[in-house]
Amino acid sequence: MKIGIDAGGTLIKIAVEDQGQLTFKKQPSTEITEVAAWLAALPDADVALTGGKATYLQSLIPQQAFQSIEFDATFRGIQSFLEQHDIALADYIFANVGTGTSIHFVDGENQLRAGGTGAGGGMIQGLSYLLTGITDFSEVTSRAAAGDREKIDLKVKHIYKGDKTPIPGDLTAANFGNVLHNMHDMTFTADDKLAAVMGVVGETVTTISIHAAREFKTEHVVYIGSSFLGNALLREVVMDYTVLRGFKPYFIENGEFSGAVGTMRLM
Ligand code: ADP
Repeated sequence: MKIGIDAGGTLIKIAVEDQGQLTFKKQPSTEITEVAAWLAALPDADVALTGGKATYLQSLIPQQAFQSIEFDATFRGIQSFLEQHDIALADYIFANVGTGTSIHFVDGENQLRAGGTGAGGGMIQGLSYLLTGITDFSEVTSRAAAGDREKIDLKVKHIYKGDKTPIPGDLTAANFGNVLHNMHDMTFTADDKLAAVMGVVGETVTTISIHAAREFKTEHVVYIGSSFLGNALLREVVMDYTVLRGFKPYFIENGEFSGAVGTMRLM
């Protein structure tokens, strides 16, 4: 049995390969000792680790685990998912929207870190709590999908008020920039606020990703990370915004397990 683990800032992603069958599971990073206890009961497993908490997890388990650098592991995992889905891309940007967001350029067999932003899954969780008091991630995502961003975000067309716009009118001019215009005759529900949180995170991630795509002269952008899990609105914002800016977005099923699968493949 082979086990690949990406122990991240928020979630521990686990890939298990047993008799050619690949299965996935995840656990909050706060439960790292439970993951260690589970590994201790599987002393013969070949274990490969990656992620920010890999060294700490190694200190808790009996196996002498293989360890790889997170960026290399994620790249290797993405390659194997793309192959599995018959998606052949000679070059692309990938954006890993985890607790924070890391952006990389891939050219054939090499990956290069192209940048990052603090806007990501941690910002979704923190800002959602500050604005609404909600901490449960699935409640955040389902309520965001029911919210209305138009009252909160200022679009280019709102500023031009029917005049011809020099850039697409549906582009956001100012995230949260419509609040003071609408504060006297509209109410902002928790759902609306959560929708605007997905807006600012999704648009920030996309903007940085497509700038990297332009810099490295590729049109493909692959998005992964647990922030997209059950998060229809974040996916939609990122997908629409990438297309609107003239690039091609890809979402990989189980992509958040790229690091876990990758470190196992590199072992
Ligand atoms: P990391 O490796 O940094 O832990 P992930 O790719 O696992 O990154 O993404 C973490 C983000 O995923 C969280 O910040 C949150 O936005 C989102 N998320 C998805 N599902 C959950 C969950 N069940 N619990 C907490 N966060 C979740």
